[in-house]
Amino acid sequence: MSEIRKHYFLDEYCIIAPGRSKRPSVFKAEKKEEASNKCVFCAGEEDKTPLATAVYKNGSILKDSEGSRVTRWDMRCIPNLYPALAPDASEVNSDLDVTPGYGFHEVIVETPLHENVTPDLSDEEMTLLMKVYQDRVMHYESMDKIEYVSLFKNWGEKAGASLEHTHSQLIAMPIKPPVLMEEMKAIDSYSGCPYCDIVEKESKSERLLYENEHFLVITPYCSKVPYEMWILPKVHTNHISGFDQDQLSSLGKAIHSALSGLWNNIGEIPYNYMFYQLRDETGYHFNLKIQPVTTKTAGFEKNTEVFINTMPPETAVNYLQGDF
Ligand SMILES: [Zn+2]
Ligand SMILES: [Zn+2]
Repeated sequence: MSEIRKHYFLDEYCIIAPGRSKRPSVFKAEKKEEASNKCVFCAGEEDKTPLATAVYKNGSILKDSEGSRVTRWDMRCIPNLYPALAPDASEVNSDLDVTPGYGFHEVIVETPLHENVTPDLSDEEMTLLMKVYQDRVMHYESMDKIEYVSLFKNWGEKAGASLEHTHSQLIAMPIKPPVLMEEMKAIDSYSGCPYCDIVEKESKSERLLYENEHFLVITPYCSKVPYEMWILPKVHTNHISGFDQDQLSSLGKAIHSALSGLWNNIGEIPYNYMFYQLRDETGYHFNLKIQPVTTKTAGFEKNTEVFINTMPPETAVNYLQGDF
Protein backbone atom coordinates (compact mmCIF):
# COMPACT_ATOMS: atom_id res chain seq x y z
CA MET A 1 0.00 0.00 0.00
CA SER A 2 1.70 3.13 -1.11
CA GLU A 3 1.07 6.85 -0.63
CA ILE A 4 2.02 9.83 -2.73
CA ARG A 5 3.06 12.51 -0.25
CA LYS A 6 3.60 16.17 -1.05
CA HIS A 7 6.39 18.17 0.54
CA TYR A 8 5.35 20.50 3.36
CA PHE A 9 5.35 23.58 1.09
CA LEU A 10 7.22 22.85 -2.16
CA ASP A 11 5.90 21.17 -5.30
CA GLU A 12 7.88 18.03 -4.54
CA TYR A 13 6.51 14.56 -4.08
CA CYS A 14 7.66 11.21 -2.86
CA ILE A 15 6.07 7.81 -2.98
CA ILE A 16 6.14 6.06 0.37
CA ALA A 17 5.97 2.41 -0.60
CA PRO A 18 6.56 0.14 2.40
CA GLY A 19 6.00 -3.55 2.19
CA ARG A 20 9.19 -4.93 0.88
CA SER A 21 11.21 -3.82 3.89
CA LYS A 22 9.45 -4.60 7.17
CA ARG A 23 12.56 -4.45 9.27
CA PRO A 24 15.73 -2.46 8.84
CA SER A 25 18.54 -4.41 7.39
CA VAL A 26 21.48 -3.93 9.67
CA PHE A 27 24.12 -2.72 7.36
CA LYS A 28 27.74 -3.60 7.80
CA ALA A 29 30.42 -1.26 6.62
CA GLU A 30 32.40 -2.37 3.66
CA LYS A 31 35.56 -3.91 4.99
CA LYS A 32 37.72 -1.04 6.09
CA GLU A 33 41.21 -1.03 4.83
CA GLU A 34 43.82 -0.94 7.53
CA ALA A 35 44.55 2.66 8.46
CA SER A 36 47.50 3.17 6.24
CA ASN A 37 50.09 5.80 6.94
CA LYS A 38 49.50 6.92 3.38
CA CYS A 39 46.30 8.74 4.41
CA VAL A 40 47.08 12.41 3.79
CA PHE A 41 44.49 13.61 6.33
CA CYS A 42 46.15 11.80 9.27
CA ALA A 43 48.19 13.59 11.92
CA GLY A 44 51.85 13.46 10.93
CA GLU A 45 51.13 13.66 7.17
CA GLU A 46 50.64 17.44 7.06
CA ASP A 47 53.29 17.94 4.39
CA LYS A 48 51.38 15.68 1.95
CA THR A 49 48.56 18.22 1.47
CA PRO A 50 48.44 21.79 0.14
CA LEU A 51 49.18 24.43 2.82
CA ALA A 52 46.35 24.58 5.37
CA THR A 53 44.35 27.82 5.25
CA ALA A 54 43.19 27.49 8.87
CA VAL A 55 44.37 25.11 11.58
CA TYR A 56 42.45 24.88 14.86
CA LYS A 57 44.74 24.01 17.74
CA ASN A 58 44.19 24.48 21.51
CA GLY A 59 41.69 27.30 21.01
CA SER A 60 43.85 29.19 18.47
CA ILE A 61 43.51 29.50 14.70
CA LEU A 62 46.84 29.11 12.91
CA LYS A 63 48.00 28.78 9.31
CA ASP A 64 50.58 26.64 7.57
CA SER A 65 53.42 28.37 5.82
CA GLU A 66 55.95 27.05 3.33
CA GLY A 67 58.45 25.01 5.33
CA SER A 68 56.38 25.18 8.53
CA ARG A 69 53.27 23.05 8.92
CA VAL A 70 51.20 23.17 12.09
CA THR A 71 51.23 19.78 13.84
CA ARG A 72 49.25 18.38 16.82
CA TRP A 73 46.12 20.12 15.56
CA ASP A 74 42.45 19.57 16.43
CA MET A 75 40.90 20.37 13.02
CA ARG A 76 42.50 21.39 9.77
CA CYS A 77 41.14 23.23 6.68
CA ILE A 78 42.99 22.63 3.43
CA PRO A 79 42.36 23.47 -0.23
CA ASN A 80 41.00 20.49 -2.17
CA LEU A 81 43.72 18.99 -4.34
CA TYR A 82 41.21 18.51 -7.17
CA PRO A 83 39.04 21.63 -6.86
CA ALA A 84 35.70 21.99 -8.65
CA LEU A 85 36.22 25.78 -8.63
CA ALA A 86 39.51 27.66 -8.15
CA PRO A 87 40.53 31.30 -7.55
CA ASP A 88 42.79 31.45 -10.63
CA ALA A 89 40.02 30.70 -13.17
CA SER A 90 40.63 32.44 -16.47
CA GLU A 91 38.19 34.12 -18.86
CA VAL A 92 36.55 31.88 -21.44
CA ASN A 93 35.09 32.87 -24.79
CA SER A 94 32.01 31.18 -26.13
CA ASP A 95 28.77 32.20 -27.79
CA LEU A 96 26.98 30.15 -25.14
CA ASP A 97 26.41 31.28 -21.54
CA VAL A 98 29.67 30.68 -19.67
CA THR A 99 31.57 32.31 -16.82
CA PRO A 100 35.00 31.44 -15.37
CA GLY A 101 34.97 28.65 -12.79
CA TYR A 102 36.00 31.03 -10.02
CA GLY A 103 35.69 29.95 -6.42
CA PHE A 104 37.23 27.95 -3.60
CA HIS A 105 37.00 24.29 -2.69
CA GLU A 106 38.09 23.40 0.81
CA VAL A 107 38.29 20.24 2.90
CA ILE A 108 37.71 20.34 6.66
CA VAL A 109 39.48 17.44 8.37
CA GLU A 110 37.41 16.87 11.49
CA THR A 111 39.83 14.82 13.58
CA PRO A 112 43.53 13.95 13.49
CA LEU A 113 42.63 10.29 14.14
CA HIS A 114 41.97 8.12 11.10
CA GLU A 115 39.59 5.69 12.81
CA ASN A 116 37.32 8.32 14.41
CA VAL A 117 33.85 8.85 12.95
CA THR A 118 31.25 11.43 14.03
CA PRO A 119 29.73 9.24 16.80
CA ASP A 120 33.25 9.03 18.32
CA LEU A 121 33.59 12.81 18.62
CA SER A 122 33.01 14.46 22.02
CA ASP A 123 30.61 17.36 22.70
CA GLU A 124 33.62 19.71 22.73
CA GLU A 125 34.82 18.42 19.35
CA MET A 126 31.33 18.74 17.83
CA THR A 127 31.07 22.32 19.15
CA LEU A 128 34.47 23.13 17.67
CA LEU A 129 33.42 21.62 14.34
CA MET A 130 30.31 23.84 14.26
CA LYS A 131 32.53 26.84 15.03
CA VAL A 132 34.85 25.86 12.16
CA TYR A 133 31.83 25.59 9.84
CA GLN A 134 30.66 29.05 10.95
CA ASP A 135 34.12 30.63 10.56
CA ARG A 136 34.85 29.15 7.14
CA VAL A 137 31.42 29.90 5.65
CA MET A 138 31.64 33.51 6.87
CA HIS A 139 35.22 33.83 5.62
CA TYR A 140 34.31 32.87 2.06
CA GLU A 141 30.95 34.65 2.01
CA SER A 142 32.68 37.92 2.88
CA MET A 143 34.65 37.73 -0.39
CA ASP A 144 33.83 39.63 -3.56
CA LYS A 145 32.12 37.59 -6.27
CA ILE A 146 31.21 34.76 -3.87
CA GLU A 147 27.43 34.33 -3.88
CA TYR A 148 27.03 31.09 -1.97
CA VAL A 149 29.03 28.63 0.11
CA SER A 150 27.87 25.04 -0.17
CA LEU A 151 28.78 23.17 3.02
CA PHE A 152 28.36 19.42 3.05
CA LYS A 153 29.73 16.10 4.15
CA ASN A 154 30.06 12.86 2.21
CA TRP A 155 30.77 9.84 4.38
CA GLY A 156 31.48 6.48 2.80
CA GLU A 157 32.39 5.61 -0.74
CA LYS A 158 28.78 5.13 -1.85
CA ALA A 159 28.02 8.68 -0.67
CA GLY A 160 30.83 10.09 -2.78
CA ALA A 161 33.72 10.25 -0.29
CA SER A 162 37.00 9.45 -2.00
CA LEU A 163 38.94 9.30 1.27
CA GLU A 164 37.90 7.32 4.33
CA HIS A 165 39.24 9.75 6.97
CA THR A 166 36.20 11.72 8.17
CA HIS A 167 35.99 15.18 6.62
CA SER A 168 33.54 17.84 5.42
CA GLN A 169 33.83 20.07 2.37
CA LEU A 170 32.79 23.48 1.24
CA ILE A 171 32.60 24.98 -2.22
CA ALA A 172 32.43 28.79 -2.40
CA MET A 173 30.84 29.72 -5.71
CA PRO A 174 30.01 32.81 -7.77
CA ILE A 175 26.36 31.84 -8.37
CA LYS A 176 23.39 31.16 -6.10
CA PRO A 177 22.07 27.59 -6.33
CA PRO A 178 18.78 27.51 -8.28
CA VAL A 179 17.27 25.03 -5.82
CA LEU A 180 17.52 27.59 -3.01
CA MET A 181 16.24 30.42 -5.20
CA GLU A 182 13.18 28.30 -6.06
CA GLU A 183 12.66 27.50 -2.40
CA MET A 184 12.95 31.19 -1.49
CA LYS A 185 10.23 32.03 -4.02
CA ALA A 186 7.93 29.50 -2.36
CA ILE A 187 8.77 30.94 1.08
CA ASP A 188 8.04 34.48 -0.13
CA SER A 189 4.61 33.44 -1.30
CA TYR A 190 3.84 31.57 1.95
CA SER A 191 2.16 33.37 4.76
CA GLY A 192 4.74 33.33 7.59
CA CYS A 193 7.73 30.95 7.62
CA PRO A 194 6.98 27.41 6.47
CA TYR A 195 9.90 26.00 8.46
CA CYS A 196 8.68 27.68 11.67
CA ASP A 197 5.35 25.95 10.96
CA ILE A 198 7.18 22.63 10.45
CA VAL A 199 8.98 23.11 13.80
CA GLU A 200 5.64 23.85 15.49
CA LYS A 201 3.86 20.89 13.90
CA GLU A 202 6.60 18.25 14.06
CA SER A 203 7.66 19.01 17.63
CA LYS A 204 4.36 17.40 18.61
CA SER A 205 4.34 14.67 15.95
CA GLU A 206 5.37 11.02 15.82
CA ARG A 207 8.19 12.07 13.47
CA LEU A 208 10.12 13.90 16.20
CA LEU A 209 13.41 12.01 16.65
CA TYR A 210 15.38 14.23 19.02
CA GLU A 211 15.15 17.62 20.62
CA ASN A 212 17.44 19.81 22.69
CA GLU A 213 17.32 23.42 23.85
CA HIS A 214 17.74 24.97 20.41
CA PHE A 215 17.23 22.27 17.73
CA LEU A 216 14.86 19.54 16.57
CA VAL A 217 15.70 16.44 14.55
CA ILE A 218 12.78 15.03 12.57
CA THR A 219 12.21 12.36 9.95
CA PRO A 220 10.35 14.55 7.42
CA TYR A 221 6.83 13.69 6.27
CA CYS A 222 7.91 13.50 2.61
CA SER A 223 11.23 11.68 3.14
CA LYS A 224 12.96 11.06 -0.16
CA VAL A 225 15.18 8.26 1.14
CA PRO A 226 15.03 5.79 4.06
CA TYR A 227 16.13 7.36 7.38
CA GLU A 228 16.25 10.92 6.00
CA MET A 229 16.60 13.40 8.88
CA TRP A 230 16.23 17.18 9.06
CA ILE A 231 17.75 19.37 11.74
CA LEU A 232 15.96 22.67 12.36
CA PRO A 233 16.60 25.53 14.80
CA LYS A 234 13.54 26.19 16.98
CA VAL A 235 14.01 29.94 16.70
CA HIS A 236 13.90 31.40 13.19
CA THR A 237 17.48 31.97 11.99
CA ASN A 238 18.48 32.27 8.33
CA HIS A 239 22.20 31.57 8.54
CA ILE A 240 24.87 29.85 10.66
CA SER A 241 26.37 33.28 11.45
CA GLY A 242 23.27 33.91 13.61
CA PHE A 243 24.15 31.15 16.12
CA ASP A 244 25.98 31.92 19.38
CA GLN A 245 28.28 29.46 21.14
CA ASP A 246 25.40 27.83 23.01
CA GLN A 247 23.39 27.32 19.81
CA LEU A 248 26.45 25.96 17.98
CA SER A 249 26.92 23.48 20.80
CA SER A 250 23.24 22.40 20.53
CA LEU A 251 23.61 22.02 16.75
CA GLY A 252 26.68 19.81 17.26
CA LYS A 253 24.74 17.65 19.74
CA ALA A 254 21.81 17.33 17.32
CA ILE A 255 24.06 16.14 14.47
CA HIS A 256 25.91 13.79 16.81
CA SER A 257 22.66 12.32 18.11
CA ALA A 258 21.19 11.84 14.60
CA LEU A 259 24.29 10.10 13.26
CA SER A 260 24.79 8.01 16.41
CA GLY A 261 21.19 6.77 16.06
CA LEU A 262 21.87 5.78 12.47
CA TRP A 263 25.22 4.21 13.29
CA ASN A 264 24.19 2.30 16.42
CA ASN A 265 20.71 1.18 15.42
CA ILE A 266 20.71 0.78 11.65
CA GLY A 267 24.33 0.32 10.70
CA GLU A 268 27.39 1.98 9.28
CA ILE A 269 25.51 3.48 6.37
CA PRO A 270 27.11 5.95 3.99
CA TYR A 271 25.43 9.34 4.14
CA ASN A 272 25.47 12.92 2.91
CA TYR A 273 24.55 15.93 4.98
CA MET A 274 23.98 19.34 3.49
CA PHE A 275 23.54 22.79 5.03
CA TYR A 276 20.83 25.05 3.60
CA GLN A 277 21.10 28.74 4.47
CA LEU A 278 20.93 32.16 2.81
CA ARG A 279 22.92 34.98 4.36
CA ASP A 280 21.05 37.83 2.67
CA GLU A 281 17.52 36.44 2.99
CA THR A 282 16.21 36.88 6.51
CA GLY A 283 13.04 35.03 5.47
CA TYR A 284 15.00 31.82 4.94
CA HIS A 285 15.12 29.28 7.78
CA PHE A 286 18.46 27.50 8.29
CA ASN A 287 18.24 23.73 7.98
CA LEU A 288 20.45 20.72 7.64
CA LYS A 289 19.38 17.61 5.79
CA ILE A 290 20.93 14.18 6.35
CA GLN A 291 20.35 11.62 3.61
CA PRO A 292 21.66 8.09 4.20
CA VAL A 293 22.58 6.28 1.00
CA THR A 294 20.89 2.87 0.92
CA THR A 295 19.47 2.92 -2.59
CA LYS A 296 20.48 4.10 -6.03
CA THR A 297 18.80 6.96 -7.85
CA ALA A 298 17.38 5.22 -10.93
CA GLY A 299 15.46 6.02 -14.09
CA PHE A 300 12.11 6.81 -12.48
CA GLU A 301 13.63 9.34 -10.04
CA LYS A 302 15.74 10.93 -12.79
CA ASN A 303 12.73 11.12 -15.08
CA THR A 304 10.25 12.56 -12.57
CA GLU A 305 12.26 13.78 -9.54
CA VAL A 306 9.69 11.85 -7.54
CA PHE A 307 11.47 9.56 -5.10
CA ILE A 308 10.29 6.09 -4.13
CA ASN A 309 11.02 5.43 -0.45
CA THR A 310 10.28 2.04 1.10
CA MET A 311 10.77 3.28 4.68
CA PRO A 312 7.93 5.44 6.06
CA PRO A 313 9.41 8.21 8.23
CA GLU A 314 7.01 7.23 11.06
CA THR A 315 8.67 3.79 11.12
CA ALA A 316 12.18 5.11 10.51
CA VAL A 317 11.96 7.27 13.64
CA ASN A 318 11.41 4.19 15.83
CA TYR A 319 14.24 2.26 14.22
CA LEU A 320 16.59 5.26 14.60
CA GLN A 321 15.73 5.33 18.31
CA GLY A 322 16.57 1.63 18.60
CA ASP A 323 12.95 0.78 19.21
CA PHE A 324 12.11 -2.26 17.08
ZN1 LIG B 1 43.69 9.28 7.96
ZN1 LIG C 1 11.33 30.18 10.31
